[in-house]
Amino acid sequence: MGTAAHSTAYNVPVTTPTPTDLELRCHCGGVQLLAANVTPAVANRIVCHCAGCRAFAERMDARDLDALGGVERMQVSPAALHITRGADALACMQQSPRGALRWIARCCGTPLGLTLRSARVPFVGLDVKRVDLDRLVRPLDDVIGPLRARVNGTFARSERPALRADTRSLLSMLAHLAPLTLRWWWRGDQRRSPFFDKGRPVVEVETLYEAREPKLLGRGCR
Ligand SMILES: [Zn+2]
Ligand SMILES: [Zn+2]
Repeated sequence: MGTAAHSTAYNVPVTTPTPTDLELRCHCGGVQLLAANVTPAVANRIVCHCAGCRAFAERMDARDLDALGGVERMQVSPAALHITRGADALACMQQSPRGALRWIARCCGTPLGLTLRSARVPFVGLDVKRVDLDRLVRPLDDVIGPLRARVNGTFARSERPALRADTRSLLSMLAHLAPLTLRWWWRGDQRRSPFFDKGRPVVEVETLYEAREPKLLGRGCR
Protein backbone atom coordinates (compact mmCIF):
# COMPACT_ATOMS: atom_id res chain seq x y z
CA MET A 1 0.00 0.00 0.00
CA GLY A 2 2.89 2.33 0.82
CA THR A 3 4.06 2.95 -2.75
CA ALA A 4 0.57 3.22 -4.22
CA ALA A 5 -0.54 5.59 -1.48
CA HIS A 6 2.45 7.78 -2.16
CA SER A 7 1.98 8.02 -5.90
CA THR A 8 -1.75 8.74 -5.45
CA ALA A 9 -1.11 11.41 -2.86
CA TYR A 10 1.43 13.19 -5.02
CA ASN A 11 -0.99 13.27 -7.94
CA VAL A 12 -3.76 14.98 -5.99
CA PRO A 13 -3.81 18.69 -6.84
CA VAL A 14 -3.82 20.80 -3.70
CA THR A 15 -6.81 22.75 -4.98
CA THR A 16 -9.08 19.68 -4.98
CA PRO A 17 -9.50 18.47 -1.39
CA THR A 18 -10.16 14.76 -1.11
CA PRO A 19 -13.48 13.95 0.59
CA THR A 20 -12.54 12.27 3.84
CA ASP A 21 -14.51 10.19 6.31
CA LEU A 22 -13.94 11.67 9.76
CA GLU A 23 -14.23 9.37 12.73
CA LEU A 24 -15.21 10.79 16.09
CA ARG A 25 -15.36 9.02 19.43
CA CYS A 26 -16.19 9.56 23.07
CA HIS A 27 -13.36 9.19 25.58
CA CYS A 28 -14.02 5.49 26.23
CA GLY A 29 -14.77 4.63 22.60
CA GLY A 30 -18.23 3.32 23.44
CA VAL A 31 -19.84 5.79 21.05
CA GLN A 32 -18.34 6.37 17.65
CA LEU A 33 -19.54 8.68 14.92
CA LEU A 34 -18.60 9.06 11.31
CA ALA A 35 -18.93 12.24 9.29
CA ALA A 36 -18.81 11.10 5.68
CA ASN A 37 -17.08 12.77 2.74
CA VAL A 38 -15.96 15.89 4.57
CA THR A 39 -14.07 18.64 2.76
CA PRO A 40 -13.48 22.24 3.82
CA ALA A 41 -16.24 23.21 1.37
CA VAL A 42 -18.91 21.28 3.28
CA ALA A 43 -17.71 21.91 6.83
CA ASN A 44 -17.93 25.08 8.85
CA ARG A 45 -15.35 25.28 11.59
CA ILE A 46 -16.08 27.72 14.37
CA VAL A 47 -15.47 28.31 18.05
CA CYS A 48 -18.56 29.14 20.08
CA HIS A 49 -18.09 31.50 23.00
CA CYS A 50 -21.66 31.65 24.29
CA ALA A 51 -22.20 31.28 28.02
CA GLY A 52 -24.26 28.15 27.38
CA CYS A 53 -21.48 26.28 25.64
CA ARG A 54 -19.00 27.35 28.26
CA ALA A 55 -21.30 26.34 31.13
CA PHE A 56 -21.90 22.95 29.52
CA ALA A 57 -18.17 22.34 29.03
CA GLU A 58 -17.52 23.31 32.63
CA ARG A 59 -20.23 20.89 33.73
CA MET A 60 -19.02 17.98 31.59
CA ASP A 61 -15.30 18.44 30.92
CA ALA A 62 -13.55 21.81 31.11
CA ARG A 63 -10.76 20.46 28.88
CA ASP A 64 -13.14 21.06 25.99
CA LEU A 65 -12.61 24.82 26.40
CA ASP A 66 -9.85 26.41 24.37
CA ALA A 67 -7.45 29.07 25.65
CA LEU A 68 -10.05 31.81 25.06
CA GLY A 69 -12.82 29.87 26.78
CA GLY A 70 -14.71 28.70 23.68
CA VAL A 71 -15.71 25.29 22.32
CA GLU A 72 -14.50 24.36 18.85
CA ARG A 73 -17.07 22.79 16.54
CA MET A 74 -17.49 21.83 12.93
CA GLN A 75 -20.90 22.18 11.43
CA VAL A 76 -21.80 19.55 8.85
CA SER A 77 -24.97 18.26 7.25
CA PRO A 78 -26.93 15.89 9.49
CA ALA A 79 -27.20 13.52 6.54
CA ALA A 80 -23.40 13.17 6.52
CA LEU A 81 -23.40 11.97 10.12
CA HIS A 82 -23.67 8.32 11.11
CA ILE A 83 -23.56 6.65 14.52
CA THR A 84 -21.24 3.73 13.87
CA ARG A 85 -21.06 2.42 17.41
CA GLY A 86 -22.99 2.73 20.67
CA ALA A 87 -26.25 4.27 19.48
CA ASP A 88 -27.84 2.89 22.66
CA ALA A 89 -25.43 5.01 24.74
CA LEU A 90 -26.47 8.24 23.08
CA ALA A 91 -27.99 10.81 25.41
CA CYS A 92 -29.20 14.37 25.06
CA MET A 93 -29.26 17.28 27.48
CA GLN A 94 -30.74 20.75 27.38
CA GLN A 95 -29.69 23.58 29.68
CA SER A 96 -32.61 25.94 29.16
CA PRO A 97 -36.13 25.67 27.70
CA ARG A 98 -35.12 27.18 24.36
CA GLY A 99 -31.52 26.00 24.43
CA ALA A 100 -29.66 23.78 22.00
CA LEU A 101 -29.82 20.01 22.27
CA ARG A 102 -26.46 18.84 23.54
CA TRP A 103 -25.68 15.29 22.50
CA ILE A 104 -23.43 13.23 24.72
CA ALA A 105 -22.11 9.70 25.14
CA ARG A 106 -23.71 8.37 28.29
CA CYS A 107 -21.02 5.69 28.73
CA CYS A 108 -18.40 8.21 29.84
CA GLY A 109 -20.29 11.54 29.80
CA THR A 110 -18.42 12.92 26.81
CA PRO A 111 -20.04 15.78 24.85
CA LEU A 112 -20.27 14.94 21.14
CA GLY A 113 -21.87 18.05 19.71
CA LEU A 114 -25.09 19.98 19.45
CA THR A 115 -28.09 20.64 17.29
CA LEU A 116 -30.77 23.25 17.51
CA ARG A 117 -34.02 22.20 19.18
CA SER A 118 -35.78 22.03 15.86
CA ALA A 119 -34.93 19.13 13.59
CA ARG A 120 -35.86 21.41 10.69
CA VAL A 121 -32.57 23.28 10.85
CA PRO A 122 -30.21 21.08 8.85
CA PHE A 123 -26.88 21.10 10.60
CA VAL A 124 -25.08 19.41 13.42
CA GLY A 125 -22.21 21.03 15.29
CA LEU A 126 -19.71 18.31 16.16
CA ASP A 127 -17.08 18.87 18.85
CA VAL A 128 -13.76 19.02 17.01
CA LYS A 129 -12.02 17.57 20.08
CA ARG A 130 -13.88 14.30 19.46
CA VAL A 131 -12.17 13.70 16.11
CA ASP A 132 -10.12 10.50 16.32
CA LEU A 133 -6.81 12.00 15.17
CA ASP A 134 -5.09 8.61 15.30
CA ARG A 135 -7.31 7.40 12.48
CA LEU A 136 -7.12 10.52 10.38
CA VAL A 137 -5.36 9.97 7.04
CA ARG A 138 -4.50 13.62 6.39
CA PRO A 139 -4.10 16.80 8.45
CA LEU A 140 -7.32 17.94 10.11
CA ASP A 141 -7.02 21.39 8.51
CA ASP A 142 -7.10 19.76 5.07
CA VAL A 143 -10.35 17.98 5.94
CA ILE A 144 -12.43 20.58 7.78
CA GLY A 145 -10.60 23.72 6.73
CA PRO A 146 -9.33 26.53 8.92
CA LEU A 147 -11.18 28.12 11.81
CA ARG A 148 -13.63 30.49 10.13
CA ALA A 149 -14.92 32.50 13.06
CA ARG A 150 -15.33 32.80 16.78
CA VAL A 151 -19.04 33.19 17.31
CA ASN A 152 -21.17 34.57 20.13
CA GLY A 153 -18.15 36.41 21.45
CA THR A 154 -20.42 39.30 22.39
CA PHE A 155 -21.94 37.04 24.99
CA ALA A 156 -18.70 35.70 26.38
CA ARG A 157 -18.03 36.50 30.00
CA SER A 158 -14.47 37.63 29.44
CA GLU A 159 -11.70 38.02 26.88
CA ARG A 160 -13.73 40.64 25.00
CA PRO A 161 -10.73 42.45 23.43
CA ALA A 162 -9.30 39.23 22.00
CA LEU A 163 -12.65 38.30 20.51
CA ARG A 164 -13.59 41.68 19.10
CA ALA A 165 -10.66 41.59 16.69
CA ASP A 166 -12.22 38.53 15.11
CA THR A 167 -15.78 39.74 14.53
CA ARG A 168 -15.10 40.61 10.88
CA SER A 169 -14.66 36.92 10.13
CA LEU A 170 -18.30 36.42 11.14
CA LEU A 171 -19.62 37.74 7.83
CA SER A 172 -17.39 35.57 5.68
CA MET A 173 -18.27 32.57 7.85
CA LEU A 174 -21.98 33.25 7.34
CA ALA A 175 -21.41 33.68 3.61
CA HIS A 176 -19.99 30.16 3.67
CA LEU A 177 -22.57 28.59 5.99
CA ALA A 178 -25.80 30.15 4.68
CA PRO A 179 -25.74 28.68 1.15
CA LEU A 180 -24.56 25.34 2.55
CA THR A 181 -27.43 25.19 5.01
CA LEU A 182 -29.87 26.17 2.28
CA ARG A 183 -28.56 23.42 0.00
CA TRP A 184 -28.81 20.85 2.80
CA TRP A 185 -32.35 21.96 3.59
CA TRP A 186 -33.35 21.92 -0.09
CA ARG A 187 -32.00 18.34 -0.35
CA GLY A 188 -33.99 17.30 2.72
CA ASP A 189 -30.91 16.46 4.80
CA GLN A 190 -32.78 17.55 7.92
CA ARG A 191 -34.91 14.41 7.56
CA ARG A 192 -31.82 12.20 7.53
CA SER A 193 -30.28 13.07 10.89
CA PRO A 194 -29.25 10.22 13.20
CA PHE A 195 -30.30 12.47 16.11
CA PHE A 196 -33.92 12.89 15.05
CA ASP A 197 -36.69 10.58 13.95
CA LYS A 198 -39.72 12.17 12.30
CA GLY A 199 -38.70 15.52 13.75
CA ARG A 200 -38.29 14.30 17.33
CA PRO A 201 -35.03 13.60 19.21
CA VAL A 202 -34.20 9.86 19.12
CA VAL A 203 -33.67 9.84 22.89
CA GLU A 204 -35.48 11.54 25.73
CA VAL A 205 -34.05 15.00 26.36
CA GLU A 206 -32.73 15.37 29.89
CA THR A 207 -33.47 18.88 31.11
CA LEU A 208 -30.86 20.53 33.29
CA TYR A 209 -33.04 23.44 34.36
CA GLU A 210 -35.91 24.10 36.71
CA ALA A 211 -39.28 24.35 35.01
CA ARG A 212 -39.65 28.06 35.84
CA GLU A 213 -36.25 29.43 35.03
CA PRO A 214 -36.45 31.60 31.93
CA LYS A 215 -33.40 33.20 30.33
CA LEU A 216 -31.10 31.10 32.43
CA LEU A 217 -27.99 31.68 30.39
CA GLY A 218 -28.69 34.68 28.17
CA ARG A 219 -28.22 34.54 24.42
CA GLY A 220 -26.21 32.18 22.25
CA CYS A 221 -26.73 28.42 22.09
CA ARG A 222 -27.92 28.38 25.75
ZN1 LIG B 1 -17.87 6.66 26.16
ZN1 LIG C 1 -22.65 28.11 22.02
